[in-house]
Amino acid sequence: MLRNTPSVLLLTALLLACSASDSQESLIDLIVYGETLVTMDADMRIIENGAVAVDDGVILALGTAEEIDAAYRAESTLAGAGRIVMPGLVNGHSHAAMTLLRGVADDLALMDWLQNYIFPAEVAFVDPDFVRIGTELACWEMLRGGTTTFVDMYYYPDTIAEVVESCGMRALVSTTVIDQRSPDAESAEDGLAKGLGFVERWKGRNSRITPIFGPHANYTLNAEQLKATREAALDLGAPISIHLSESPFELQYSKDTYGKTSIEMMEEIGFFDGPTIAAHVVWPTDSEIPILVDREVGVIHNPTSNMKIASGISPVTKMLAAGVRMGLGTDGAASNNDLDLWEEMRLAAFLQKVDRMDPTALPAEAVLRMATSGGAEAIGLGDQIGSLEPGKRADLIQVAFDDVHHVPTFNVVSHLVYVTDEQDVASVVVDGQVLVREREFLTIDTARVREEANALAAQINAELERRNQ
Ligand SMILES: [Zn+2]
Repeated sequence: MLRNTPSVLLLTALLLACSASDSQESLIDLIVYGETLVTMDADMRIIENGAVAVDDGVILALGTAEEIDAAYRAESTLAGAGRIVMPGLVNGHSHAAMTLLRGVADDLALMDWLQNYIFPAEVAFVDPDFVRIGTELACWEMLRGGTTTFVDMYYYPDTIAEVVESCGMRALVSTTVIDQRSPDAESAEDGLAKGLGFVERWKGRNSRITPIFGPHANYTLNAEQLKATREAALDLGAPISIHLSESPFELQYSKDTYGKTSIEMMEEIGFFDGPTIAAHVVWPTDSEIPILVDREVGVIHNPTSNMKIASGISPVTKMLAAGVRMGLGTDGAASNNDLDLWEEMRLAAFLQKVDRMDPTALPAEAVLRMATSGGAEAIGLGDQIGSLEPGKRADLIQVAFDDVHHVPTFNVVSHLVYVTDEQDVASVVVDGQVLVREREFLTIDTARVREEANALAAQINAELERRNQ
């Protein structure tokens, strides 16, 4: 019989220590460290010398590195020296594959740009290969800049979803419905029928990918087609993304055609009866903003695109004050011309300040929220992503703060909005999987994508030159 002598107690303690360090309970997939954690939770909690414990794609816990190290041991870690950890950015509106049309037509108004350049170029060049290469290029660029989730609207949505699946990002992929000949459909009816198949094929297939409907706008679809798309979305329990109240042209078109401005017209036909992500919303009237609030429409502000095409200045601060759910988007690379959400944050803040002649308008924290938790809520994923909180999916990034433009840092939130750019993003985790580790891309063969994109661009260029002769 063993008596509790000091040596027996010591042996027991050693055995317990060994079994604890060998036990499965304490071994998790990943710990991400950071000199500062910017949680973006409701209390805007900031943790110095922090760490995030991740297992099975979920954030298990966060706290100081000391607390996390005491409770967990991980198979893999991301070191925290010179790193800020924050939620991945949410790009609420993109046309990813348009990276391949970047710079094809610049300095034009929306309708001239769409009807005389973009729509014809798309019918001529866009096929599944174009969409695959263009979307891979976009995923590469978005991951490089710390975007972990995007809401896409383009053609051949199965191909988009396959690229998202392989690159490891999270996305809502819209199947485009538009009443004209497009690269993948002859008409709105054809597009809707094909879209039904796409949503059915991808629903529940991959938890990172949500298939949704993307009726283009109320000037490229009539009221019956918009209603039919909403009914299809309701039948399949799918959200919708759409361009809404974007330009002075649309405002006038809507008044002339429907006798009402866009948002009122959409409300009248029951378009907001299901989850809606509305891109742009530059021209809402005072009576339309309450509709967006009541119907819980997620509004995605795209400042660069709105400035470049001269669509106007969205009343972002007014909508936020009214309680509209608001996120940020880049729009496609043909009207931006990049997919950089850090730039969107800065421009969103600056535009509101100069428009209102009020430097306190849209402060750094408010705009950082639009790019993270606010954007997640606007696209219907607020309970899953957008902040660092236990139980949420582990979509997070490490931002390097050792570049000269971060020396010194007095206020990390100010730096994230007014200083940080894409090149500062060091590592990216989506759904607990490390996709970028210290600027090395683990899921995208960047050399192959570069080569394929350049080869396709050469073909497009040759064809454009032939046509212009
Ligand atoms: Zn768009």
